[in-house]
Amino acid sequence: MEENYSPPGTGHRQENKPHNIYNGWSSLAVHAGHEKDPRYSHLVPLYASSTYVYDSAEQGMRRFSGQEEGYIYSRWGNPTLREAEKKIEALETFGSDTEVKGILHASGMAAISTLMLSALKAGDKVLTHYSLYGGTHELLHQILPSLKIECIVEDLRNPEKAEEHLKRDSSIRMIYIETPANPTIQCVDIESLAFLAKQYKRVIACDNTFATPYLQQPFRYGVDFVIHSTTKFLNGHGTAIGGILLGRDIEFMKSQATKAHRLLGGNSNAFDAFLLIQGMKTLELRMERHCHNAMETAHFLAVHPAVAKVNYTGLPEHPDHYTAMKQMRHPGAMLSFELKGGFKAGVDFMNRLQMCVRTVSLGTLDTLLSHPASMTHYGVPKEEKEKYGITEGLIRMSVGIENIQDILADLNQALDCL
Ligand SMILES: *Cc1c(COP(=O)(O)O)cnc(C)c1O
Repeated sequence: MEENYSPPGTGHRQENKPHNIYNGWSSLAVHAGHEKDPRYSHLVPLYASSTYVYDSAEQGMRRFSGQEEGYIYSRWGNPTLREAEKKIEALETFGSDTEVKGILHASGMAAISTLMLSALKAGDKVLTHYSLYGGTHELLHQILPSLKIECIVEDLRNPEKAEEHLKRDSSIRMIYIETPANPTIQCVDIESLAFLAKQYKRVIACDNTFATPYLQQPFRYGVDFVIHSTTKFLNGHGTAIGGILLGRDIEFMKSQATKAHRLLGGNSNAFDAFLLIQGMKTLELRMERHCHNAMETAHFLAVHPAVAKVNYTGLPEHPDHYTAMKQMRHPGAMLSFELKGGFKAGVDFMNRLQMCVRTVSLGTLDTLLSHPASMTHYGVPKEEKEKYGITEGLIRMSVGIENIQDILADLNQALDCL
């Protein structure tokens, strides 16, 4: 009953421009999702309103019963949020006939929570790769087990191992992947895992945060759900936390997923959605520059005497180079590298950075670096860190859009004394 999002009180529905008038990616990124504003505002207004009014009690009744389209309450839906959802739906399906529905959330974690709690029930299992975003890992290992939803961790870069589990264990309900993933930028093969999911009648979800729909469109390979932390490259400017859950089963998205989203309460808000919409318009321009800079940076680091190893899928020596090339337009803007000098070199290097920014997170205009051993993974036992590829001198880098000569000069001077 609650799937209708057209603006109330305008007397007629404001139609979108048809998507088939856009041949280019940025044309779609700029225009898709926008509805003509009844008051002729150029950009979508911020609908900073918790609730929506009715002309009469009868109209209220029609809205609640679903006989009439219109907004009811902003936890359920909001016109500013809807524009962001429609834009991401369009970008994730550009160039294909697939139809998907997206639900904007307050964060990437809220979107993942809605997915898990709507698609899984007690007794179900999730099969995942071991390289996952930390929050997702904790959700799977610390929250879901108390609801009797268990997680099996496997190296899904090898699809045969996935198949063994699927054959053996019919309680595996979902394959959950993230590609590329932290911190060693591992990639799994979306197409073969989606094929297996279909063959064994399970669902498959893909966190597409690192790649963005500009670099990779998981729905092309038959994935059922796509998740983003929009906090990262989609917003692109580091101005808001947000997330989205998209699904190709429209009925499921309108019923179970919508219900879980509304009742768990992880809704976004008009201001964050507005910032996200404006950010996404330049996604192609930003990603082209991010990726170009990342490739140059990887080549620079690969031959630097203080660097033991560079993890970037654009380099042929990365074990997942082929997988990345197969499913991504460019290898992305995330890389990591190991300093020969270990923990102390990591700390010294971080302290010497002048332009690049010391912080966690990723996907902003500026180049961000973090040293997991002294920051996000400080205090985690060494053996556990090594299991995830986090060595003492590992530096993670989200390459920004600054001029490449300045990025390289900053890295060079910070590496100089190591
Ligand atoms: C940041 C991130 C998340 C979580 O998103 P939030 O917006 O911080 O809740 C999930 N997955 C990936 C890959 C991320 O980078």
